[in-house]
Amino acid sequence: MKQTLRYQIAESDLETVRCPLCSSDDFTPLIDVAPTEGNIPGTRYIDHAFTVVKCRDCAMIYTNPRPRLEWSVARYNTPYETGVAKNRSTFLHQLNSIASYPGGLQIIRERQPGGRLLDIGSSAGVFIGLAALAGYEAEGNDVDEAAVAISQAIFPGQTRVGDVHSLDLPREHYDVVTLWNVIEHLREPVHTLKCVHELLKPGGVVFLETPNHSLPILRANRSVARALGRPTFLIPYEHIMFFTPRTIGHALKAAGFTATTVYTNGWQSVFRHGNVLEEGRRFTRMGERVKKNAYRVLNGLSGGALNFMPVMQVIATKPPSTESRLNSA
Ligand SMILES: [Zn+2]
Repeated sequence: MKQTLRYQIAESDLETVRCPLCSSDDFTPLIDVAPTEGNIPGTRYIDHAFTVVKCRDCAMIYTNPRPRLEWSVARYNTPYETGVAKNRSTFLHQLNSIASYPGGLQIIRERQPGGRLLDIGSSAGVFIGLAALAGYEAEGNDVDEAAVAISQAIFPGQTRVGDVHSLDLPREHYDVVTLWNVIEHLREPVHTLKCVHELLKPGGVVFLETPNHSLPILRANRSVARALGRPTFLIPYEHIMFFTPRTIGHALKAAGFTATTVYTNGWQSVFRHGNVLEEGRRFTRMGERVKKNAYRVLNGLSGGALNFMPVMQVIATKPPSTESRLNSA
């Protein structure tokens, strides 16, 4: 049986932060996210409004104030998040991402056709399995113990429980590091990318996928969703960083990467968050039913495009070190 979990958050659970990308404290409010807007019908719910702001110095879009670390950790450890229902959704969630994996793998292979690959936030390990089939020596890590257990049972490769900062991973060891839909959750993304930089061999590549929150896309998606009474999937208490091609480029450069290429033509199914149409409590009243049917018709006519949110796939290189260049000369 489906249950909706209601998260509580108090003012004392929130913190006002400087720009997580450039440390500027100069920001302007961009979007007021209403209490119900980021909710995911049939799964989770939070009765609190959030503000998404834009940095005046580097244009980073981020949640501010945002939940404190302690609140986020406690939320990820609730019985719902660690229970059977979550395990099932973890697996389905990853299967829904499969559509993105072949394109990403192709992008990686063009720059780094083989070698050791680390998938950070590997969840149920689906990408590790695909990378292994493609000839990589693939391994991963995830903070979600249940997801790692699934990964170890089904897919080849080594998966560890823990976050990349606390695991004692070997430096200059990997040819490829991937982060699939991870960076938008991170509190200090540049710090994590610097850590990735250390783990990579000189000349190694980092690949990541994250929602593309370019302003016209963000505004259009939100307008359609709001008009039809659907959640907007901003989920500002979970996704705290809203990247654009420009700001993801800044983040990678700040961490020491070069030759960044951003592919902005990706789409990802939002059904990874549960079946919005069938489980939505918002569609129970008559007016809501009309919206639901309007949504179905529009979605049918658009070939399913309304069910997807735009993502970008990004690849960048750790420059070969001066030393290794001298040695090979
Ligand atoms: Zn900034």
